[in-house]
Amino acid sequence: MKVKEICCIGAGYVGGPTMSVIALKCPKIRVTVVDVNKEKIKAWNGPLDKLPIFEPGLSEVVKETRGRNLFFSNDIQKAIQKSEMIFMAVNTPTKTKGEGAGMAADLRHIISCTKDIAKYSKTNKIIIEKSTLPVRTAEKIKEILNSEGGDLKHEVLSNPEFMAEGTAIKDLFKSDRVLIGGDSTITGQKAMKKLIKIYINWIPKEKIITSNIWSSELSKLASNAMLAQRISSINSLSALCEKTGANIKDISLAVGMDKRIGPHFLKASVGFGGSCFQKDILNLVYLSNYYGLKEVAEYWHQVVKLNDYQKKRFSDNIIKNLDGSISNKTITILGWSFKPNTNDTRESPAIYVGINLLKKGAILKIYDPLVKKAQIIQDLNNLIKLDSDLKVKSSELISKVNVCLDIDSAINKTDAISIITDWADFKQIKWENIRKNKIPVFHILNNSNHNVYPDIN
Ligand code: ADP
Repeated sequence: MKVKEICCIGAGYVGGPTMSVIALKCPKIRVTVVDVNKEKIKAWNGPLDKLPIFEPGLSEVVKETRGRNLFFSNDIQKAIQKSEMIFMAVNTPTKTKGEGAGMAADLRHIISCTKDIAKYSKTNKIIIEKSTLPVRTAEKIKEILNSEGGDLKHEVLSNPEFMAEGTAIKDLFKSDRVLIGGDSTITGQKAMKKLIKIYINWIPKEKIITSNIWSSELSKLASNAMLAQRISSINSLSALCEKTGANIKDISLAVGMDKRIGPHFLKASVGFGGSCFQKDILNLVYLSNYYGLKEVAEYWHQVVKLNDYQKKRFSDNIIKNLDGSISNKTITILGWSFKPNTNDTRESPAIYVGINLLKKGAILKIYDPLVKKAQIIQDLNNLIKLDSDLKVKSSELISKVNVCLDIDSAINKTDAISIITDWADFKQIKWENIRKNKIPVFHILNNSNHNVYPDIN
């Protein structure tokens, strides 16, 4: 029997795009995406140019499927009851309290939606972990289902999402691989087959791989840790370039031409951001420590530390180049999202650079093509709250932040420009005018302490 009705709990960066693509590729399946957040669901049901998340190609997919076989709702109970298959795509932030605080993944939302499934289900369900979770989370999910789910027998699968923000739709259309982990029992294997039948509608058979559930859970953490490690490796070399006069772009090209290494993820930056890399690596560090593997934990922890060093180094370079003092100098920050083509700002290096500059007395002008003023102020406030040795009031710092609505107002009347996110829009800037006006520009690819202008052609 083919699956006809599925739902996804969590309408965020993972749930929204993934379910939209499943609805597009499987017109016979009714897909409902539910969320506790009423505003978010309203936005998913609202104008296509104001969907709650931005991804190139997403609005086109939603346009075709919404109201046909894709629905967004706050009625979690009804969606659970009607669905045979339930994806869990809720957020798993880093724990802020208790054991593992600051590193381990906070499973509060996963637990709460598992409890909802146990409470509302009247038939057996196939429950799929879509969010990145620590290895052996499925065990916890099964425990809750067994103790609170009555006599029902649910199956738990792991099907981690490997798409990258900014290219999510492209990645979902043409996935490198789809990984499905499940139990080797007859019912476990049956559940896996049902999920494979969904993906087979557009993913070539050889790209769909299966494993036991623990391998599947750990593969996602391992993938993110390896990708982040590549960024930190090249970023560590950018520091060495600045000391030696070597050029990081030449290094990236030369090293990346080695097929075994490849050109991707070898572009130096102000640091990696986003909701996954730091969180997942810290989670891996926690797990390694938990299993007594101190050296393994230290190794991966260093990848995150190097990222912090890179962000600090970038802002320190700006200060050094502005004669060691930026008090009441205006500095423009171009780009606020953690990378181009997304409006996601979680862990964006821009936030750290912004705070470092504000703390040293700068006045900021900030521009991002997609991120709104309210988000920028909230990001800064959130980080200020965590800063225990801050001497000034947060309102005093925030009063020095000017969020600009267009590039021109951001780059006019400023003492320096820093490019944090490589948005294509910034290539349109008339850099020769900036150079004529002798406004220093800081950009990691250009050995910022040599104060060279971005060679944006
Ligand atoms: P991700 O990047 O992992 O997709 P997001 O924060 O973008 O994370 O999205 C997760 C979504 O899950 C949020 O919109 C949040 O409101 C929703 N959510 C969290 N817990 C629950 C829950 N128990 N039931 C329904 N939705 C939830």
